[in-house]
Amino acid sequence: MLDGVGGMLLAYSDLFLVQCPRCSSCARIFTPNNAKGKDEPRYLGHESKRLLCVKCGYTKDIHPKRRWDNLWAFSHELYNEKQGVDWYFGLPLYLQTQCCGHKLWFFNYEHLFDIEIYIKEHVRPSGLYYLSAKSRLPKWMKLSKNRDEVLKAITKLKFL
Ligand SMILES: [Zn+2]
Repeated sequence: MLDGVGGMLLAYSDLFLVQCPRCSSCARIFTPNNAKGKDEPRYLGHESKRLLCVKCGYTKDIHPKRRWDNLWAFSHELYNEKQGVDWYFGLPLYLQTQCCGHKLWFFNYEHLFDIEIYIKEHVRPSGLYYLSAKSRLPKWMKLSKNRDEVLKAITKLKFL
């Protein structure tokens, strides 16, 4: 849904903030330093990942497996990005809320700030909706009439 502005959502996927399955605090999913495939472009998105909650200490690792074609990949399909869950463990994203009848979600704060800046600069407060070919944001987020509500929801998420 919330694609990177003019880029790929993958650019933000090095850090997911999710709800900890044990204590519901904000846990992180990231690529550990010793991850298999780290820094090798062909593994992009398929490096080992670690789920870590600093609040309760919950930790879980997930590792890719070598496939028939000798590449490393996860044995499961990466989770559907439309559901507001992380790609690896399928946990609900921490930065999400209901907005204008839709689910608004972000992978992490960098993602959130980029989208906020984009909306502030490109969606005009009045007039017809502004549909940019460059941005792959969902249409409802680019509607002028939704601008204030979207920005308000983003601000709310910043103070979670
Ligand atoms: Zn926890």
